[in-house]
Amino acid sequence: MTHLANVFVAAGLLIAGVASAQSASDTTGASSGPTPQAVQVDSPDGRVAVQFRLDAKGRPHYAVTLNGATLVEPSPLGLATTLGRWTDRLTVRSVSEVSAVTDRYQLRHGKCESCTYNAQRRRVTLTNEAGSAMELVFQVANDGVAFRYRIPQQNDAGPVTAYEEVTGFKFAEGTRSWLTPMHDPVSGWQQTFPAYEGHYVIDDPVGMPAPTGVGWSFPALFRDADAGWALVTEAGFDGSYHGSRLTARSDGLYRVAGPEPGEGTGIGDPATSSFTLPFASPWRLIIAGSELAPIVESNLVTHVSPPSTVEDAGFVQPGKVAWSWLPLKDDSIVPDVQRQFIDMAAEYGFEYCLIDNWWDQQIGYEGVQELVEYAESKGVGIFLWYNSNGSFNDAPQTPQDRMHTAAARRAEFERLQSMGVRGVKVDFFGGDKQSVMQLYRDIFRDAAEYEVMVNVHGSTVPRGWRRTHPNFMTSEAVRGYEYITFGQEDADRAPQHATLLPFTRNVVGPMDFTPTMLTDSVGFSERRTSNAFDLAMTVVFESGLQHLGVTPKSMAQQPDGVQAFLRDVPAAWDETHFIDGVPGRYVILGRRSGDSWFIGGFNGTSEAMTVPIALNFLGRASAGTLITDGDDLRSVEERAVTASPADSLMITLEGRGGIVGQFAPGEN
Ligand code: CA
Repeated sequence: MTHLANVFVAAGLLIAGVASAQSASDTTGASSGPTPQAVQVDSPDGRVAVQFRLDAKGRPHYAVTLNGATLVEPSPLGLATTLGRWTDRLTVRSVSEVSAVTDRYQLRHGKCESCTYNAQRRRVTLTNEAGSAMELVFQVANDGVAFRYRIPQQNDAGPVTAYEEVTGFKFAEGTRSWLTPMHDPVSGWQQTFPAYEGHYVIDDPVGMPAPTGVGWSFPALFRDADAGWALVTEAGFDGSYHGSRLTARSDGLYRVAGPEPGEGTGIGDPATSSFTLPFASPWRLIIAGSELAPIVESNLVTHVSPPSTVEDAGFVQPGKVAWSWLPLKDDSIVPDVQRQFIDMAAEYGFEYCLIDNWWDQQIGYEGVQELVEYAESKGVGIFLWYNSNGSFNDAPQTPQDRMHTAAARRAEFERLQSMGVRGVKVDFFGGDKQSVMQLYRDIFRDAAEYEVMVNVHGSTVPRGWRRTHPNFMTSEAVRGYEYITFGQEDADRAPQHATLLPFTRNVVGPMDFTPTMLTDSVGFSERRTSNAFDLAMTVVFESGLQHLGVTPKSMAQQPDGVQAFLRDVPAAWDETHFIDGVPGRYVILGRRSGDSWFIGGFNGTSEAMTVPIALNFLGRASAGTLITDGDDLRSVEERAVTASPADSLMITLEGRGGIVGQFAPGEN
């Protein structure tokens, strides 16, 4: 209780007559002792703690400490709905005992295959002046805090609309932030924004307003000088709520905010959500670490998301994808070129080939059927592109109007299943309104029935879907490689940009950056990253589908070691290990697949740096191959190494250069 009192005293929020939370009754409300005003929940290892309190006006607040230092200062909580407001003049009806939460589950793809969640849970039941109850549920794990609002079933309550959420995250003065602004909905390509495709504003003081005027995206990274790192995001979606973002107040308070009314060409609910009771809001997450490893390695987003109800997800197979559109754009969506990319996929062991937009006009269903059969004969699966609209974007790319209604998409998925198509890429969602969040859910559900995998682009950030919907393979929601091909400014910024994503966007779910081009010229730009840098993206960036930007010609020109590496590197992992890095400067990760370890690292600066890699994570994997930069950005050097877990490897990352490594058990 010491931390708790100190945190709230410092914020001027301590009120008299604090009762020990330990004396509180369980959720029955049959409290015999004093009503508790302050509640604490600790993580299993005792290092993370959340404290809850009502202030003198009955307004709920929480704070988070990490190793005894304040990470999130007292911050507001509350929800206002048509059923009642739980924002102020509240009383604590009851506080549950602390209970242990343990959850073990498997993922089809991701940072780890077998996941275990351990947390401590506590429920605080609040009543408003009308006597109506709402619960706050806190779950505290060793890598962070999750909390959500629950409104229990109430007699005769019809549909309820939530119209204001008070939740905030208050950071101390001096805290730094790494944030990406939401897009203004009218700013984007054919009303398809927001799509989480912005650049980051890095290492900024807290409290700065987003330059777009419409808030900052989840996930949002903060560093408190004393306590450490916090990555703020949300998870656990069932369609009953919109996707949120953050708006900054100058004192460092970031408030949860809903979508802009103009999103989705103005169609659909504005920043309110309607639901029936019982209701549970999405989880609000603060992933916490004194260092960056717990942030990068965290699976908190899937830990708190609903389990899958798909009975047999055997059709879900992660993999690498040959994709002509990134290097060659729309003109490449013709049968001849697609055959060349299918051939490349077969030759180098890529599992899939994606046929992108306009295929319906430039190839047609019959032509696609022939390509599916051709690909199948070579062990390659086909994905097809779709525009998500309906009327909620104006993007002209076709096919259109086959994903926006249940009847249309189910008919399409049935057809795709009968054709042997393995999955779809659905593009241009445009926004986070409740109706769009439901559209994602419905596409995943319907596709699963027909054993179709789904990749979403022009999309929102993942919020735990890969657990709830195992056929959700990946989401773009990043300023990805396509922008590097669109213009030189993005190509120039790419080295630094790439070093931000493992600490932010890619922490919370699969990220379809579409890595790895190996040519000098890419689209309209000259590529600034080295070939080893681009190879390392396949390890550093995690995505259930890894769309590679290579061409048959560029692959044929690569040395054997590079070809072998791209053949071997998987798109799903059993374990992820953060080795070293600083957001905006460099990053090195290790990822395990079976008993092999892959290492990927790159340098976002223009200056060479030498970094030691402690090899204590390798286990039995001792026989290694390293690919590092050669004499220039387009050449590589390959060398064999024998490593033991006691060793440290000194590696040099050239400016805008990288490294990949591959370690397997040696012969003893
Ligand atoms: Ca895009």
